[in-house]
Amino acid sequence: MADQRARRISEFIEPLRVRPGRSVNLRDFDPRRHSKAVRKKKQGRELLQTGIAMLADYQARLAAQDTYGVLLCLQALDAGGKDGTIRHVMSGVNPQGVHVAGFKVPSVEELDHDYLWRYAARLPARGDIGIFNRSHYEEVLVVRVHPELLDRQKLPPESRKKIWHRRYREINDWEHYLVDNGFRVVKVFLNLSYEEQRQRFLRRIDVPERNWKFSAADVMERRRWNDYQDAFSEMLSHTSTSWAPWYVVPADRKWMGRICTAAILVHTLIELDPQFPTVSDEARARLADARTELMAQAPDAGGHRNHRVPAGARHGAAV
Ligand code: AMP
Ligand code: MG
Repeated sequence: MADQRARRISEFIEPLRVRPGRSVNLRDFDPRRHSKAVRKKKQGRELLQTGIAMLADYQARLAAQDTYGVLLCLQALDAGGKDGTIRHVMSGVNPQGVHVAGFKVPSVEELDHDYLWRYAARLPARGDIGIFNRSHYEEVLVVRVHPELLDRQKLPPESRKKIWHRRYREINDWEHYLVDNGFRVVKVFLNLSYEEQRQRFLRRIDVPERNWKFSAADVMERRRWNDYQDAFSEMLSHTSTSWAPWYVVPADRKWMGRICTAAILVHTLIELDPQFPTVSDEARARLADARTELMAQAPDAGGHRNHRVPAGARHGAAV
């Protein structure tokens, strides 16, 4: 049963994975892509619930084992659905075990460091699931589309030579280092169409409660649509690796984007297969001793007569 579920999830996400070394064009990925496994929204909702429940279970074991960590990098164009995906996919997990880090325009302090510095500072700890809402990939996306942002990074001239290919390599190496040290890295691109972005922007303008989500800069970025498609295509072609793969998730239908992201995260955890720590014979013996002591303190076992209540514990004790 569990194996079957794992296989179904694996088959479901397999077509979304960008094969390492493959040169891809984002325009070849359909943002409305269908899956045989989920044709209707209702099926999708059920699958999402299953995914959320599995995530909660795996997350508890990941935290208890305290050996591995997981980093999910979420990238998308504006209105791609990153915030909603995080809200839904993580809705069932213990908030203590999840850390979301969002990345905006870098601060002056951040610009005074190497470009990976601010991302390294917000990595998840062992036992945690970390989510990057935007990530180090902005360094080869928005920064590539807007060279003036690169100027602000104060790089020495020799560091600007062949910069994009160098950054791809550095990012791959950095992620390899993380994986080698017990941190799984998985990357999701929520793939939105030009038309769906237009619709979502319009809704943000027309619905007062959504106004805050819209900024005039969003339409300016939209004018650079083709440049972004090119930057994403190049980035996906060079940074989907066997140790940290990219998934291109169809995101025109929000529920589809969410199920795929949940499935990808669950798949990553299934592969890690975290286990509750086993207790040694010695520790088990100590547990048995503690149990005997606690049982003897029960009121109906004469605990109140036979044991003196320690002074500090007396307050509020039922007598
Ligand atoms: P939002 O996610 O809508 O709150 O917007 C965050 C903004 O920060 C976006 O416009 C990003 O393009 C921008 N941003 C994120 N990372 C970087 C970066 N490394 N350099 C420049 N701008 C960035
Ligand atoms: Mg925005």
